[in-house]
Amino acid sequence: MSVEAVTPETRSPVGELLERSNRLGADPRNTNYAGGNTSAKGTGIDPVTGTPVELLWVKGSGGDLGTLTEAGLAVLRLDRLRSLVDVYPGVEREDEMVAAFDYCLHGRGGAAPSIDTAMHGLIDASHVDHLHPDSGIALATAADGGELTRRCFGDRVAWVDWRRPGFQLGLDMAEIRRAHPEAIGAILGGHGITAWGDTSAECEARSLEIIRTAERFIEENGRPEPFGAPIPGYEPLPEEERHARAAAILPLVRGLASTDRPQVGHYTDSEVVLDFVGRAEHMRLAALGTSCPDHFLRTKVRPMVLDLPPTADLADVHARLRELHAAYREDYAAYYTRNATPDSPPMRGADPAIVLVPGVGMFSFGTNKQTARVAGEFYVNAINVMRGAEAISTYAPIDEREKFRIEY
Ligand SMILES: [Zn+2]
Repeated sequence: MSVEAVTPETRSPVGELLERSNRLGADPRNTNYAGGNTSAKGTGIDPVTGTPVELLWVKGSGGDLGTLTEAGLAVLRLDRLRSLVDVYPGVEREDEMVAAFDYCLHGRGGAAPSIDTAMHGLIDASHVDHLHPDSGIALATAADGGELTRRCFGDRVAWVDWRRPGFQLGLDMAEIRRAHPEAIGAILGGHGITAWGDTSAECEARSLEIIRTAERFIEENGRPEPFGAPIPGYEPLPEEERHARAAAILPLVRGLASTDRPQVGHYTDSEVVLDFVGRAEHMRLAALGTSCPDHFLRTKVRPMVLDLPPTADLADVHARLRELHAAYREDYAAYYTRNATPDSPPMRGADPAIVLVPGVGMFSFGTNKQTARVAGEFYVNAINVMRGAEAISTYAPIDEREKFRIEY
């Protein structure tokens, strides 16, 4: 007899959770590729005792919301997950809690629980979405993000200061939910958004409300030209010349970016990229680096930026790229040395993952075709975030030390 046959009273929310996740993940305005996670709580039967048990179904590590299937979910017992609060040793040792999630699993199979599992389990709501929308991260990385969130949402959406993903963030979010019963979710400083609801439909509607309201707020209140005036001479080349130029530069750039290990390159000349690299503020903003935790794992903290116009002599461009690459590697090694502790993993390699070329576009690098393309997509997300944050305020990503702690 199968377990299901003796458990007519179970209420599995898996079907609606997967449908909601796929819908949210299908629109790139809602979350970046493989970013964010969703969950539902419900009742199952403990096969050991035959009695009902409260369970959490949550997207596990890896994979994308748009194509999430049941195999991508981790299933945990809520009583055990909640008990972790009593043995939590404090924020300095919060990383130990990820290993403890394995002792909360409901049977074998499914995906490994991710670092965001605590947030989903500890927030007292049946359904929770955690997403990385460009509009939400624009508010989250604005210098006065807390104040802007109040102006944008009143007390309908709470603000949480930056805290890196982990068990403490889960406890903080549970407290926010308790302290603001009127709120439908929160903007997570430097990071993204979280929404909750009693039903799957309510949770989804609230996620979309936060994302679209932030989009509208930026559109209606943002100043024109957040990236500054166009730089004379940095206008995009006509398409055919642009592609010829890209083809002439790519082999050298790919060679440079493969100094530590072989990399596949991807080229993008979308309007978003060409506009950014053609305007006055792009150097300052690129140097500030990306912010959302999973951005810089893919893009590195900052890109390498060519500082010559697209009409410069090709030999000069090649010479300058070599100089910039050497300087990039020195900077990256210095960043590693400044922030590494005795138990940090070794340096990941000092080559850039993103190279910006005014008037031509962006080269992105990864170990295969897919990761090279996704790195570029992530940098487009970062450009959108910077444009939104600069339109309504000043872009203020999390500080370097925190970036390092996440990258390593
Ligand atoms: Zn996140």
